Amino acid sequence: MVPVIALVGRPNVGKSTLFNRLTRTRDALVADFAGLTRDRKYGEGRMGERPFIVIDTGGISGDETGIDTVMAEQSLLAIEEADVVLFMVDGRDGRTASEEMIAQHLRTRQKKSYLVVNKIDSVDADSAASDFYALGMEHLYMIAAAHGRGVKQMVDEVLAGF
Ligand code: GDP
Ligand code: MG
Repeated sequence: MVPVIALVGRPNVGKSTLFNRLTRTRDALVADFAGLTRDRKYGEGRMGERPFIVIDTGGISGDETGIDTVMAEQSLLAIEEADVVLFMVDGRDGRTASEEMIAQHLRTRQKKSYLVVNKIDSVDADSAASDFYALGMEHLYMIAAAHGRGVKQMVDEVLAGF
């Protein structure tokens, strides 16, 4: 089984940067999977011998009031398609109301998911993490997608679950 990893989170948190790093492209490969829409971007990654599929999503906007509007349809679909969700946040910002809704949605769906605090190259990692613990996600990774810091260890651990 090739695990499917979805990247979700607000715009600008670094999802596409991580996607490109995982798929080693600048302009992501779009895998040709029957029945999947083009709103989401599918790429193939490999960590050591382990292949995986990664889904990039356009993002979930910031200031709506309900889960249906907070989470773009494509993000909800990506979550349903995924075996595991990487829920990305920007370590430079505090958690937002929309992020609390995303966390709640992932709990409701009982999806295997990990919180990924990105951009830790430009923040104090401990203080960044402490604010996001309040989202109540079980697992948390601290990474810098732009530089690769923490990415291999995170993906190795995520894949080890399959
Ligand atoms: P997306 O909207 O979630 O797909 O976010 P992008 O991948 O487009 O990244 C948004 C911005 O954050 C870009 O300017 C990236 O260069 C920047 N960015 C992404 N990852 C990192 C990181 O690890 N550290 C820093 N400092 N900036 C990052
Ligand atoms: Mg993007």
